[in-house]
Amino acid sequence: MNDTRKNIRFLIFVFILLFAAMIFYLIYAISVYGERWFVSPYNPRIANMQENITAGAVLDRTGKKLAWSDGDDRKYIADESTRLAVSHVVGDPLGLTRGAETFFAKYLYGFDEDAVDRLTGLLQGSKRQGSNVTLTIDAKLSDTIRTAMGRRQGAVVLLNYETGEILSAVSNPGFDPAKVKTYKGKTGSTVLFNRAFMGRYPPGSIFKVITTAAVLDNPELKLATWDCTGETKIGGKEVSCAGDEQHGNVDLFSAFTESCNTFFARQTLKLGAEKLKKEAEKFAFNVDFMFDDIIAYQSMYETPEDDIDLAWSGVGQYKDLVSPLHAAMIAGCIANKGSMMEPRLLYSADSASGRKLYTFASKQYKNPISEANANELKKMMVNVVKEGTGTAAKVKGYTIGGKTGTAQYTDDKGKTKEHAWFIGFIDDAKHPLAIAVLLEGAGGGGRNSGPVAAKAFKKAIDLGY
Ligand SMILES: [Zn+2]
Repeated sequence: MNDTRKNIRFLIFVFILLFAAMIFYLIYAISVYGERWFVSPYNPRIANMQENITAGAVLDRTGKKLAWSDGDDRKYIADESTRLAVSHVVGDPLGLTRGAETFFAKYLYGFDEDAVDRLTGLLQGSKRQGSNVTLTIDAKLSDTIRTAMGRRQGAVVLLNYETGEILSAVSNPGFDPAKVKTYKGKTGSTVLFNRAFMGRYPPGSIFKVITTAAVLDNPELKLATWDCTGETKIGGKEVSCAGDEQHGNVDLFSAFTESCNTFFARQTLKLGAEKLKKEAEKFAFNVDFMFDDIIAYQSMYETPEDDIDLAWSGVGQYKDLVSPLHAAMIAGCIANKGSMMEPRLLYSADSASGRKLYTFASKQYKNPISEANANELKKMMVNVVKEGTGTAAKVKGYTIGGKTGTAQYTDDKGKTKEHAWFIGFIDDAKHPLAIAVLLEGAGGGGRNSGPVAAKAFKKAIDLGY
């Protein structure tokens, strides 16, 4: 009898504990994810709000209207090419995508208004007017970038590496927000998927920026040289250099310039999995991106079990994954003396009565590398564009730095293909711009993505950024 009572008491105690834990988790989750749940496409409240509130407009940084309300209709910028170029950033009226239309709903639908404003609106019985949001992007620049990508699927992110402002984030293909319903539920369609922020791709050789950062932190590895014969055997398996190239005698600087896989594979083995993983995590791999303005998927670096996988992970293959947004942040961080800024998409929010509700401020996100090492890596990246694999990204009259990547993957038909990467920056205090270009299955990174980066940089400079 006594035992039973004891057991019951114990059980009650366990239940109370579980209940308390659940409450704490709920409070935690709402405070951390609340805003993200609110903008989820599954939240019907946004649709309901549209009945009582006229949503505000979405503008680009130059004041160009990208989306606005016309009575009960939602209108989008008339020029089709621009409309497609900014579609993923702007979003859609139904909340099927995660653009500004949903992520900044609290402004557009006047949630931020004070009680007096709301009450006045209610008493007058009229529909309330939501606030306008101005984004950091430039629509014209976005259009130029989309045109440079052509029909190739992929994404480009161009940002100011000193402030974190995103000047352009193009995900190709774009969609027509007014016809968003027609894309819904189409099996196999990835049109509504924002590749720029949520696409995760094997980085290939752009990951050598991370591996090099780790090597620079290890003085005994920094000065190592290697005789590249185009391939090297690790645990009975082969790591080879792209295009059957034999790079001969290389050191860190020349191996980076020529993107020598065998050199980096050997260096990675000497570094070890733990050191490389630690370096990757300093650069925000395996980190939940909880940015204020953007929903972005996490980048991955998994610790490999055996040597051959470890070697491949150091040249950006194995299970490494990165998004174009994160790749642009990494390039920008090297140009910005090792300081990685939080990416910004919201420039300002203004109420219908002209009240400033939000003004953009920049914020450092991470500081993964010392200024001295960042500057050393910067020199290497500048040399890549000067005379290495990235010469196609040159812009006349400017110093461009970069790293190419040709990342192998297996498509759904089992065929081996290559994603074309270029990440880079302009080394110029007047134009502190960084970029990531990713073209799916397009082949060589330098050849395909380099020219897109050059065109984007050129247009951005012309526009005064
Ligand atoms: Zn090589």
